[in-house]
Amino acid sequence: MQNSRLLRRLRTDFQLSILTLMGALGVFGISPYAVYRLLEGNYVVGAADVIIVCSTIAAVFYAWRSGDTVKPGIAVSVIFSAASTLIAIKLGINGLFWIYPLILFNFFMVSPGKALLAMLLVLSTLVGYALSVPGTVFESHYQMVSFLVTCLMASFMSFVFAYRTHNQRDQLQLLSVLDPLTGARNRRAMTEELKAAASVQRRHGDNYAVLVMDLDHFKQINDQHGHLAGDQVLMDFVELVKSHSRKEDRLFRFGGEEFLLLLPNTDLASLRSAAEHLQAQVAEQLRSPGGPVTMSSGGAILQRGEHWEALLQRADLCLYQAKDAGRNRAIIDSQPQRPLLVS
Ligand code: GH3
Ligand code: MG
Ligand code: MG
Repeated sequence: MQNSRLLRRLRTDFQLSILTLMGALGVFGISPYAVYRLLEGNYVVGAADVIIVCSTIAAVFYAWRSGDTVKPGIAVSVIFSAASTLIAIKLGINGLFWIYPLILFNFFMVSPGKALLAMLLVLSTLVGYALSVPGTVFESHYQMVSFLVTCLMASFMSFVFAYRTHNQRDQLQLLSVLDPLTGARNRRAMTEELKAAASVQRRHGDNYAVLVMDLDHFKQINDQHGHLAGDQVLMDFVELVKSHSRKEDRLFRFGGEEFLLLLPNTDLASLRSAAEHLQAQVAEQLRSPGGPVTMSSGGAILQRGEHWEALLQRADLCLYQAKDAGRNRAIIDSQPQRPLLVS
């Protein structure tokens, strides 16, 4: 049970799995060197190795416990970079080999810009030290230049690759939550955000409201003017609702012509006025080739401890009542949010 939860986190959280993998590689790869250096009496390098191993274990633990992978990623990257620089200064050519895996490590752990900056700092420190204390780090100028050129090439190629990958991942993440026709958020995003709202509400007692909206007689638009005309109405509807709701409100398309607006920090009175305002704007401005298009809507306020599906059901019930009562109207469930119990 516990194991399968851990495996699921590793599979779904890319950053956490990379941090864990890199952490494990670092710990298993460096621990033998730490023991060897300490036995050999090279205490500075041995201590640097021990610090790397211990701080890596601490950072991986922190990431697993807190769910935050950014801060431990930066911490591990800074420690690895500083320790590798120190080791290269102390050991010369034998230490310099470690700079190549450090390049890959940094580009895996932190954003491309930060990784590039770290590598430029490491390389300039090594070269600066070698120039100011001649005869250390590199065996010749020729070796220094070759090392510098190969490291810069590897860093810039990693930068380009990491930058592209980051961009593509961001785009994919965005696409996975958007409805391709209207650009509103999709049903999957809706479920996630309603779950998140319910848990924030449970912990902090914040007010959340939802408004479920359904276009009236939409099928007729398709039947009389074609599917493309229907699509255009859906796109215009989303533009209209977005421009007449607040920036923090979230619009989702969760069915064909069914939408949900999630309104944070909204009490019953504000939900009523938002619903009426939207209702009026749609009736006034939304047009199909056959004339005005209206909507019906149902709204409700999230109750303390209420499951998000129960909230949707209450809003849906109001929507059905609005349809039954003749459409082009908003009905809001009159339950206000129950006040926080102060014990
Ligand atoms: P009511 O007033 O009771 O809501 O009637 P309605 O006609 O709007 O409701 P109904 O659920 O019968 O019809 C919804 C229609 O929405 C049927 C379906 O063809 C159409 N639809 C669903 N998705 C899309 C879409 O992506 N594009 C277009 N053009 N039409 C869609
Ligand atoms: Mg409809
Ligand atoms: Mg419908």
